[in-house]
Parts: sequence; structure tokens; C-alpha cells
Amino acid sequence: MTSIYEYTKEELASHLEGQPRYRVDQLWQGLWVDGLEIEGITTIPAALRAALREKFPTALHVAHDVESDRGATRKWVFRLENASTIETVLMRYDDRVTVCVSSQAGCAMGCTFCATGQAGFSGQLSVGQVIEQVMYAARAAAPLRLSNVVFMGMGEPLANYRVTVDVLRRLHEYRGLSARHLTVSTVGVAPAIERLAHEGLPLTLAVSLHAANDETRNELVPLNRRYPLERLHQACQTWLDATGRRLSFEWALIDGVNDTDRAIAELAEYANSLHAHVNLIPLNPTPGFLVRGSSAQRVGEFRDGLLSRGVNATVRNTRGRSIAAACGQLATVTNAKRRSIPVRSEHQPVASR
Ligand code: SAH
Ligand code: SF4
Repeated sequence: MTSIYEYTKEELASHLEGQPRYRVDQLWQGLWVDGLEIEGITTIPAALRAALREKFPTALHVAHDVESDRGATRKWVFRLENASTIETVLMRYDDRVTVCVSSQAGCAMGCTFCATGQAGFSGQLSVGQVIEQVMYAARAAAPLRLSNVVFMGMGEPLANYRVTVDVLRRLHEYRGLSARHLTVSTVGVAPAIERLAHEGLPLTLAVSLHAANDETRNELVPLNRRYPLERLHQACQTWLDATGRRLSFEWALIDGVNDTDRAIAELAEYANSLHAHVNLIPLNPTPGFLVRGSSAQRVGEFRDGLLSRGVNATVRNTRGRSIAAACGQLATVTNAKRRSIPVRSEHQPVASR
């Protein structure tokens, strides 16, 4: 059973034999431009819609639907056909509407401070399963237009490489999203960064750094043992040379671990050598990691320390923390249940704030 979003237009045309030739254009318009579910594409006769739905069942089933930040953040837990669950987060800002998608069910990278890493890996997602997350969020965002897609949900997108690149291309070519508004966040799979650099997609790349010395990074990000900082640096350089696109580093601030003055100096040197922007994330709590996030005061000092060394640094706000939808908190349904407030299925979008 596959999602209709797995197919190219030519492939869909072959499923519409005996139909007038314009049917495939109507179907394509409905799916990709209007972002409708098959049932809602009323240019197509109802009997054909029903037949298509039977052939292409939806890939995602809503298990939980929660919101926070007065409706500006909304999280869905989706159950897949194989019973594993993934999470998708929609965030409305004044100037953009962003969906944060999962690229895998769980994650095999085992970063110690991340709830997804703590829960382990339960499977790769398909192209259709990722695109359906985007389309679901786009419908929920209406009448606002979904403008940005970030691969910062569950999973390591570059460990599901072909699917990630295929999704990015389709969102750009079929949905018309600007590649600059598509962000891939990676824990640092060096060879895959190099490959991505040559795909011809002017994306935004974010690398989850968290430590700029190998000893600390080995502890926080086990993949660092395979691709240590020097190897990662090479890959980032290739990215810059091949794409000319700015790179950003993510850094979750952990009390006493990577928020020291020494850490500021190490990060400033690493970031400056790659002209990278730094995005500081106050560590969000997870059940399996007992070290605390840095205090708000230390977060500010850390940012100022970077700025004074010429690094362009910003602090990311902690959207969705109360519903376990913030960075690194996406993991288990129990986790979501414990912290969440249910919302009705009728949702009033926040038009402007
Ligand atoms: N696997 C990819 C993308 C998903 S994680 C990656 O690691 O980049 C998205 C972001 O959330 C990453 O920057 C990750 O390091 C960060 N993150 C993970 N756990 C976190 C936590 N507990 N608090 C704050 N950020 C966290
Ligand atoms: Fe996986 Fe990213 Fe979490 Fe590390 S931080 S375990 S790579 S999702």
C-alpha cells in the first residue's frame, strides 16, 4: 500500500487509463498545488476519487493532536501502517509558517541528550510518508500559506538520504517551495553532506555541532567517533565551495558541559573558519538525560561571547516545550501524553499576531 505522493505525474497517468487526458492534470493540481486530499479534489468525479483512494490509502493516521503557544505551535503524532509513530510540528511566526518533519521513525544516532536518540530506531520513512506530513500541515495552516520545511523532527535525514533528496526535489519542483526555505539539519554524516552539496539544490544546511572538541562531542554525539570534527570540517568546506550557501551550526546549551568559556573559544574558532552562523538552543528537558540546560543568563553570556569574537549567533526560542514538541523532545507517545493538552479537531488558525 503506497501513498499517492510516491508517484511522478507520468506514473499517475498510467493509473488513469481510460480517463480523459486532462484528468492527470486535475489530479496533479489538486494534490500538489492545492494540497488537497484525494476526496477533496472535486474536479474529479466522485467514483474515480473513491477508486483512487482505495488504490492509494493515506500513509498517516492521527494518534494525537496537541497545541501550545496559544495555537501558534501544533504537534501531531501520526501512526504509520506498521504501527510505529512519528511526529510533525507546525509553527506559525509573523513572517512565515514552518513545518518540522520527521525523516525516520526514531533515530539510530543515539545522541545522549535527545529524546528521539534515547528511544532508538524503528524504521525509515518513505517519500510519501514525509510529503504527507508537509501536506497535512499545509492544510492545517490554511488560510496561511506554508512557506518553510525543516528536517528537524525525528530521525537523521542524511541517514535516509535518497528519500530526503527526493522529497526536497519534489517540494521544490512540484509544490513550488523555494529551495532556500528548505532546511536539512544533520548530526554530521560527512560523506552525505558532500554528496548533498552536489545535488544542485540551494538549500539551507544546519549542522548539529554541540561541541567543538572531539572529547566532548564523542560523548554527546556518538557519530563523532566515526566522523570527527576535522572530517566534518572538510565536509562543511565542500558544502560552502560547491553551493556558496551559508551554513549554520546548532548548539544545545548544556549546563557545565558545553557552555563554558573554553567552549565559546573553541566554537568561535570552528565557526569563524567556516563563516558559519550559530543557532543556540537552550537544552530542552528529556526523560533520559539528567544534566540541565544552561540558565537564561548563561545563554545570553554565551551568545555575547560569540558575538564579541565576530560570530553571528542567535538564540532559538523554545516553541512547543509544553507539549514536548520542542527540539529533541519528539519521541514517544507516552511522553506526549504526559505533557499535552488535547485540542478539538476544528482548529482556528491564528491569522495574524
Ligand atoms: N537528526 C538531525 C535532525 C533532528 S534533531 C540532527 O540531529 O540535526 C533537530 C535538532 O534538535 C538538532 O539540532 C538536535 O541536536 C537538537 N536537539 C536534540 N535534542 C535536543 C534537546 N534535548 N534540546 C535541544 N535541542 C535538541
Ligand atoms: Fe538523531 Fe538528531 Fe536526535 Fe541525534 S539529535 S539522536 S541525530 S534526532
